[in-house]
Amino acid sequence: MILANIFGNKCPNCKQGKIFKEKNLVFNFRKPKMYAKCENCRFEYSREPGFFFGAMYVSYALTIIEALIVFILSKILLGENQLILKFAIIVGTIVLLSFFNLRLSRIIWIYIFSKLDNSR
Ligand SMILES: [Zn+2]
Repeated sequence: MILANIFGNKCPNCKQGKIFKEKNLVFNFRKPKMYAKCENCRFEYSREPGFFFGAMYVSYALTIIEALIVFILSKILLGENQLILKFAIIVGTIVLLSFFNLRLSRIIWIYIFSKLDNSR
């Protein structure tokens, strides 16, 4: 399962090695620490300098999806009123999840380009 491997912080090549050194990827507010290569199969995560700048687009997409989910949930739970509260909940969620998005987007970015590798 590709999603299980992505959320499980697994190497896209061998599905054994880790990408991030941290165990907790969701509520971890420290600077992310990555392995340069897979410890198991030596797969290089960063293909070129600045490779992870592109992960920002993935992070942006994740943020929009999460904000939409929270918006819909808050609309169901709170109804039409309490706009300020809904806004605060959405902003709070985005801030809380930003570090998770940072890590998750890099993993997804690595996965996107690891597929290109296989077709070469
Ligand atoms: Zn590997």
